[in-house]
Amino acid sequence: MNIEGIFDVTSYRVNTEAHIRVVHERCAGCSVRACTFACPARCYTWSEERERVEFAYEACLECGTCLVLCDQGALDWHYPRGGFGVRFRGT
Ligand code: SF4
Ligand code: SF4
Repeated sequence: MNIEGIFDVTSYRVNTEAHIRVVHERCAGCSVRACTFACPARCYTWSEERERVEFAYEACLECGTCLVLCDQGALDWHYPRGGFGVRFRGT
């Protein structure tokens, strides 16, 4: 299965609160912005207008890639509250 196919077997129960928060002040020293190209769900985008990374948590796959790759410690990362978040068919 390729990464696009994962959304065919994925559903969400979206929480009203984000389970990941970007501490934007810490992004100042980041030149790579790995989050913007490594997230398989494309939750991170660079905003030229706001000159910062924007984050949308709703499609998060809870894979942890962003947490591993962010070398500035800019992510306050938690799993969603119980009963919320991603569901993979067959799990
Ligand atoms: S990788 Fe981390 S520090 Fe860099 S832009 Fe993304 S969240 Fe900010
Ligand atoms: S945990 Fe995975 S899917 Fe969720 S925002 Fe981070 S990289 Fe994207």
